This record gives sequence, C-alpha cells and structure tokens, in this order.
Amino acid sequence: MQFSELGLIPEIQRAVSEAGYTEPTPIQQQAIPFVLAGRDVMGAAQTGTGKTAGFTLPLLQRLAPHANSLPSPARHPVRALLLTPTRELAVQVFESVQTYGKYLPLRAVCIYGGVPMGPQTQELLQGREIVVATPGRLLDHVESRNISFAQVSLLVLDEADRMLDMGFIPDIRRILALLPQVRQSLLFSATFSDEIRKLAASMLRDPVRVEVARNNSAAETVTHRVLVVSEHDKRAALTALLLADPRQALVFVNTKFGASRLAVHLARQGIQADAIHGDKSQQQRTEALEAFKRGEVRVLVATDVAARGLDIEDLPFVVNFELPGNAEDYVHRIGRTGRAGKSGEAMSLMDAGEEKRLLEIEKLLGRAIPRETVDVTGSGGRGERRERGTERAPAAGRAASARRRSPVAVPAHIAADGFDFSKPYEPSTASANTDAGTPPERTVRRSDRQVAALLGGLPKNPS
Ligand code: AMP
Repeated sequence: MQFSELGLIPEIQRAVSEAGYTEPTPIQQQAIPFVLAGRDVMGAAQTGTGKTAGFTLPLLQRLAPHANSLPSPARHPVRALLLTPTRELAVQVFESVQTYGKYLPLRAVCIYGGVPMGPQTQELLQGREIVVATPGRLLDHVESRNISFAQVSLLVLDEADRMLDMGFIPDIRRILALLPQVRQSLLFSATFSDEIRKLAASMLRDPVRVEVARNNSAAETVTHRVLVVSEHDKRAALTALLLADPRQALVFVNTKFGASRLAVHLARQGIQADAIHGDKSQQQRTEALEAFKRGEVRVLVATDVAARGLDIEDLPFVVNFELPGNAEDYVHRIGRTGRAGKSGEAMSLMDAGEEKRLLEIEKLLGRAIPRETVDVTGSGGRGERRERGTERAPAAGRAASARRRSPVAVPAHIAADGFDFSKPYEPSTASANTDAGTPPERTVRRSDRQVAALLGGLPKNPS
C-alpha cells in the first residue's frame, strides 16, 4: 500500500513525501482511515512502529478545515490535546506535528515541566490549535487559567501504560473531566493491563481496536541475548563488551544514581559516555540526547523514565546493565532498537539474582531468550561468548539448565518448569514486589570474578 491511497490532503501528502516515507507502516494503514472517519481508536502499538505519524497525520487532516493565518488568538483556540508521559516524548510528538503539518497554517505548542512557565504561557495566550503536553505541567497552566479546553474536539493519549507506571492516571482523569464530552479520542499503549482497559473504557466511545503485534510483544526485528555474569563483574563485562563492539549503545540501568556512576565509570575506562535521568535538568537531558543522536557521544546511560519514547534512528544496540523490575519496561527499553523494520540487538547482563526477572520477561515476550556466558577458560579467546556451558550451570536456574541438557526435546515455548510461553501473559505480583522492595537473592560465586578478569581485568578500586 502507498501513502497516496490513504486519502491524505495534498499539504500533508507533500510533507510525508518529503519525510521520505513511501509506504505507511501497518499501524498507519490500520489507524489512519478510522481516525479520518472520526472514530475513536484504541491502538496497541509500541514506539518504533510509526504510531506517532499514525495519529498525527489524520489529526492534522481533521484540523485542516480550521487552519488559518489570522493573527487573532481567538481564531486559534485549542482544538487538539496530545498527552504524553515524558518531556522527551512530548518533544518528539511535537516535532512530528511540525514536520507533517508544515504546509498547514495550524499552530502548535509543546508543554512540559522542568522549564519556566513564562514562554509556554506566552504561546498559549497567542492561541494554539494543537497542544502537546505532559499532564503535570498542563494542569499547572489550567490552574493559572492560561488555557481553555472549550473547543477541544480531539484527544490523544500516548503511551497510556507508561502514564500508569508513572502515576499520571489521576492527572489524566482530572484533565478528562475538563474536556468537552463530544470529542474524538485516541489511546495508544504498548501493553493493556486491566487498569488501562478501564481507562480506555471511560474515555473512548465505541472504539476501533487496532494493533500491529500481539499484546506485550517486542519488535520482531530485535535479537535478544542474555549474558550471565555476576553482579560484581557487570561493569567489567560491560566495558569489555563496549570495547569489543564499537557501535553506539544505549545502556539501561534501574536508578538515577546508578546511571551517573556507570557513565563516569565508562568514561574512566576510555569509553565516551553520558547519562540521562530524571535528576538532570531538561537542558542537560536534551543536550546529552542531541549529542548522542549526532554520534558525538558513543554510549548513553539511561533510566527508564528518561529514555521513554526516545526516537533515535538506526540505533542498533541496547544493553540492559540491569534487568528491569517490571517486565513491561523491558519491552519499552528494547523498543529503542529495531525501529521501523530495522534490525537491532538487545543484550542483557544478568546476574543470578535477576533470573526471576528474566523469566517474567520471557513470559511477557512469549519466547525464551538463550543465556550465554563468557569463556572463562581462555580457549575461546578474549571476550568471546558462547552458549552457557555445563560447568556454570547452577546460578541461572532451572529453565536454562533444562534447555541446555535437552535442547531438542523441550519445545521452545515450554520452559523447564512447565511454563507455557504461548499462553497469555499474567503478571506476577509476587516477583514484582520482591523486585521493588527487598534486594534480590544473591547466589553469585567468587569464581565468577574470572569472567571480568578474562574480559579485560577488574578495576583495582571499583567505584
Ligand atoms: P514511532 O513509532 O512513531 O516512534 O516512529 C518510529 C520511526 O519510524 C520514526 O523515526 C519515524 O520517523 C519513522 N516512520 C514513521 N512512519 C514511517 C513510514 N511510513 N516509513 C518509514 N519510516 C517511518
């Protein structure tokens, strides 16, 4: 299918052609006709599928009849509200609006926290048809009476699952209560928990459901790998990995503090690295991201919140320095690679205490990820990885050892403990609680230190 078959008006078609797109992605093919027809949409799609254009293009077309170049603010009331969970995602959505809407005289503004309100207030008072916003700062503007929703006819809630994770649902409900009842609403989410379904039921009218991949699945173009390494040796293993593989990499950690420390550590090892996390100012985050996009920074260490929605083209390599406590975050993390049909690699460094998290991730993905270990004998050469060997079996748990003992007999979707990966995902609250509260059980043996020694040597004074 060609873009020209979607019935987009020439102003939008031209912008799409200039962006270099010829064929709509599957989510665009499915969603655009329904949005153009005025239907509410519930979209199951993660970043990397082209969903942003999937809602932005038809939204611009719906607003096109209102486009005008008159100076009066009254001629530019807020007509479309696009809510995103993070500043970075807001900026990306805003940039899409500007790119695809460049031949239409529609005005847009991007609203997010962490920067002074003044310039945003100025823009709002001048009149803006399209408001892309994070929920908290938008409510600040509501309280300051800088914005009126009386003319809003279109609402987009992007990455609803992340809104939920970040505790934004009460803010979303407050905003929903302020909007006109008669409007068109679109909700996009990578995953659909009961809470997201409840939210969707309360804000959508007879929605069309569109989806590009099975619920909770990760991009098919991504190769998943797990390297089993002791917690103590992770830094050395990462250093060796990055020294052996010169590609740019986005490295995920679970804490803000961990992000900074790891970036400093990598820099000390001669690997150009920067960190991006919630404690950094908006300017610092933007600068680090832009430098990474330009290729001036080789490794960007990020937390989940900061990396949410990052659109980095051609990023081939994502590394999980730690596995996330929430399996759905894994899907979001690896959504940074393998975008728009390109191939990508997701490498996770897993210590024995994280095995439970990996099992949850495998359940969510509906597939097993092979565990690998590094050659500690030296016969395979420096830093060479191979399938997990028998001499290192106990730490990684039953599923891995069963796959190792009888790789042919056990069907790929059945784990050693009998778990059937082909069945729908059911989150395990027990393991989530364990991850959030108490530190995971550590069964790491001292002999694991050899791994790092052979990979490149342990630092004398690990910081
Ligand atoms: P998204 O899932 O919206 O974050 O988009 C992921 C990437 O795909 C972005 O870099 C878009 O510019 C790109 N993209 C979106 N639609 C298309 C298309 N139809 N053809 C090629 N690339 C696209």
